[in-house]
Amino acid sequence: MELPGRLVLLGHPVAHSLSPALQTAALLSAGIPLTYETLDVTPARLATVAGLLRDAGAAGNVTVPHKEAFAALCGSRSPVAERVGAVNTFWTEGGALFGDNTDVGGFDAAVRRHFGLPHDHGVVVVLGAGGAAAAVLAAVERWDGARVRIVARTSHRANALASRFARIASVFEHVADAVHDASLVVNATPVGLDGADYPMDPAFLPPGADILDLAYRRGETPWVHACRARGLRAADGLAMLVEQGALAFERWFGAIPDREAMWKAVRG
Ligand code: NAP
Repeated sequence: MELPGRLVLLGHPVAHSLSPALQTAALLSAGIPLTYETLDVTPARLATVAGLLRDAGAAGNVTVPHKEAFAALCGSRSPVAERVGAVNTFWTEGGALFGDNTDVGGFDAAVRRHFGLPHDHGVVVVLGAGGAAAAVLAAVERWDGARVRIVARTSHRANALASRFARIASVFEHVADAVHDASLVVNATPVGLDGADYPMDPAFLPPGADILDLAYRRGETPWVHACRARGLRAADGLAMLVEQGALAFERWFGAIPDREAMWKAVRG
């Protein structure tokens, strides 16, 4: 196996990311002699850094706020990265950067892990209209008959996202109207990463809805706790984080990582 010249996480800031712990555990368990480096890169420097990484034959991950901009800097992209319009995983192939998106598979795997089969024929409500929401839509469009309602504070972003997924998506202004018959509600905003705010009032949620908060933090998010207190099945974004990381590892090394070691590293 030919190893990448460097293995990096690009973000700004990257200080609080759990990805280094996750990938370091997988590398150690597999005995791969690479260090997973964090690179704090401002948007203004991204293109220059991407060129240096390409010349070094690097691979890695991309996180907030660079996923969309980095996609445009890749020489080619996987169909799923094209569909989402964002890259969270890359490597160097034939002297060019190749971009992929494992958030889509990570989200799908997290839903299966927490709630069983995907919500075929169900109503999925997505809060937010950024890159993570696009990954959710790209996953749900593969579920048989499922529809997505987008609720976001910036209506032009919500409309733009819905128009890219017109077969399954529509935009709702009021969250109460969107969730009344939902089978799955997904928080794809950063609300809950810190502080005590909820992305929406759990009182509106119907009995039987499953709740997936893509945000995660030690002790889970306040919204997850509040939804569980209403008797709903609810989980945070840790399983998606581990799965997107495991899928990235598979792309880089063509080997299945030690998921148990990865879980241990992020649970602390
Ligand atoms: P993004 O592209 O910046 O999009 C964020 C979305 O949330 C936008 O629609 C934004 O609205 C909205 N938003 C931001 N602050 C808000 C607030 N205070 N109230 C209501 N809406 C708000 O970010 P992203 O990459 O999609 O990430 C979103 C979340 O998903 C983050 O918490 C991230 O950590 C999480 N995530 C988790 C995983 C995982 O593996 N678990 C993977 C990817 C992302 P505006 O357009 O109006 O700003």
